[in-house]
Order: sequence, then structure tokens, then C-alpha cells
Amino acid sequence: MATLFGKVISREIPADIVYEDDQCLAFRDINPQAPTHVLLIPKKEIPRLVDATSADQALLGHMMVAAGTIARQLGAGDAFRLVVNNGAQAGQSVFHLHMHILGGRGFTWPPG
Ligand code: 5GP
Repeated sequence: MATLFGKVISREIPADIVYEDDQCLAFRDINPQAPTHVLLIPKKEIPRLVDATSADQALLGHMMVAAGTIARQLGAGDAFRLVVNNGAQAGQSVFHLHMHILGGRGFTWPPG
């Protein structure tokens, strides 16, 4: 059964899509934690980053480059944070791999 983000890919659930190519899709988070908060997801269903295999290497590299492109396009290219929550205890709530692209404000380190 498709996850929430699978339904965004199939357009069953509406989303504010900011980027799409043959391998991935990016849309604004419904509960933004920064002025720019976009979720970048692979079209392939990979539940968690730890479930990715060497077969996904090119896809993940593609997404990293896409993340920079998207941040730059949204005006956050000089300062943004890329976050992947892996597993419920790390804050993952949707089990379709996603990168959070956060920008438009300052960030502290270490994260909470
Ligand atoms: P996670 O907690 O799994 O790392 O991130 C899931 C993210 O998905 C959260 O930031 C949450 O706000 C976002 N989210 C949950 N449901 C929806 C939805 O229906 N639409 C959009 N655009 N974002 C969602």
C-alpha cells in the first residue's frame, strides 16, 4: 500500500510541488519549520535511508545534487540544512525516504 508520499507522487494527495524530474519530486512541507521547508523524495519507494542499497547509489547522488538545485532556486542556496530522519526514534513519521531542505533562517548546532 502506498504511503502518504507515494500518494503525493501519484497526485492522489495534493501538494505544493516545487521540483520534479524522472527520479524525484520535491514539495513544500505542510508544517514548515523554516521559511523554506521542502521535502525531496525519490519516486522509488524506499522506506528509510538504511533500506537503500548499492543499487540506489546513483539515485541518492542525484537527489543530493537536486537538493542543491532546489535550495538555490528557492533563494536558500547559500545557507540551508539538509536533514534525513531515519527511524521513528530519530523523528521519522512518514516511511518513504525523504530529505528535508530547510532554509531562510539561521540554524544552531547540535540539532535537537
Ligand atoms: P519526518 O518526520 O518523517 O522526517 O517528516 C515528515 C514530514 O512530512 C513532516 O515534516 C510533516 O510536516 C510532513 N507532512 C506530513 N503530512 C504531510 C502532507 O500531507 N503533506 C505535506 N506536504 N507534508 C506532510
